[in-house]
Amino acid sequence: MTRQRTAICGCGQLSITVQGEPRGVGLCHCLACQARTGSVFAAIAGFRPPYEVKGQATEYVRTGDQGAKFRFRFCPVCGSNLFHTEEGEEARGVAVAVGAFGDRDFPAPTASVYDSRRHGWVVLPDGVTAYDTDPD
Ligand SMILES: [Zn+2]
Ligand SMILES: [Zn+2]
Repeated sequence: MTRQRTAICGCGQLSITVQGEPRGVGLCHCLACQARTGSVFAAIAGFRPPYEVKGQATEYVRTGDQGAKFRFRFCPVCGSNLFHTEEGEEARGVAVAVGAFGDRDFPAPTASVYDSRRHGWVVLPDGVTAYDTDPD
């Protein structure tokens, strides 16, 4: 049986259930991710479709430095940023906030993006490949 994981917003209203193992886990230190999460970096896991969303999400589309448009979904009640997709690339899957899984055994990140924006005190774990900006 394929493993399922559910990520849930802070109030429980919005959730997303994904299948299988993540296709990638990464950290993003860009200023937009710092602002949208309120944290000093975002931890994001990519999953292939299919996935199931329950509850209501508010959307915000942001254009990245490379011109890609990302559609962020967050809970209109508690404000948790839960997941996002890339416009035109929805078939590739969804990126989910790692913290929302509430699972300390979740696979560790292998990539660190916008490392040039990383706070000096944030130390990367072994085995992480760091990219100055977005390698995509
Ligand atoms: Zn919520
Ligand atoms: Zn970012």
